[in-house]
Amino acid sequence: MIHGGAGVLADMKHEASEAQFRQSMLDVLEQGRQCLEAGASALDAVEQCVVLLENNPHFNAGRGSVLNAQGQVEMDAALMNGEDLRAGGVACIKQVKNPIALARHVLEQGDHVLLAGEGALEFAQTRAVELCPDEYFITAARVQQLREAQAAGRMTLDHETLPNRPSQKLGTVGAVARDRMGNLAAATSTGGLVNKRWGRVGDTPVVGAGVFADNETCAVSATGYGEQFLRTVLAKTVSDLVWLRQLDAIAAAQAGIEYLVEKVNGEGGLIVIDRYGRCGAAQSTSGLIHGWIELEGEACCRLGA
Ligand code: ASP
Repeated sequence: MIHGGAGVLADMKHEASEAQFRQSMLDVLEQGRQCLEAGASALDAVEQCVVLLENNPHFNAGRGSVLNAQGQVEMDAALMNGEDLRAGGVACIKQVKNPIALARHVLEQGDHVLLAGEGALEFAQTRAVELCPDEYFITAARVQQLREAQAAGRMTLDHETLPNRPSQKLGTVGAVARDRMGNLAAATSTGGLVNKRWGRVGDTPVVGAGVFADNETCAVSATGYGEQFLRTVLAKTVSDLVWLRQLDAIAAAQAGIEYLVEKVNGEGGLIVIDRYGRCGAAQSTSGLIHGWIELEGEACCRLGA
């Protein structure tokens, strides 16, 4: 199961854009399915899906990340393995083509869970991780989006509509998977919020907030205002709801979003897969861009509510 951020594509002006967007979601799902069918682990599958989404400039992750208040790209990403609770994350990083691949190196290296900023970049240089100049990440649409947010004096979600402006409706990315061995994994990657303060870290790279996986419960990837997901430790909360109330993925996703709204009036969404492979999604925003695929099924994709 994958997501492309909290929001809807309904306001996109060109049908072709929506069709292309849908197609890229379906392609990623199909590649994830093939990966799992070939016997790859859930961890490999979520990493691969997120790499593909990071390489697509339409999403707020990797290439095409939103810009901070200084017009720079600072990215966060993390992934987690439900079998043994190993996790790896990177925060506030620049120049790394695929932040989720660097997060995987952090996980595999194993000494630490979360690396940030220059130290993370130095670590990347010791690994076979591709680096790109700043221009690779920054698109004209993102420069325009930042100008609009700054003119309005706002810090926004990527997809958020500013008054009197066409909506962008694209966003942060994530994936959750269950493999043939029954192992679960989750991955999330983002450029964060438009016009955020430099040095700001959101929920995405923080285990338990924007990402969580435990074979005994579920795997979760979140999107929305990171501060609200950090304060509610939302991904772990969803896992706890599965454990304590014996909820399935669908009920847990819904209960998690109800908790987010009740506690902090939070805006966002999440995708969940439970240990039986059931998929759930819920959001408090106008929609959640997401899709899912089963071993022998057709890919399904929702670009709206
Ligand atoms: N959760 C991300 C952050 O706050 C943003 C998003 O999901 O669009 O950095």
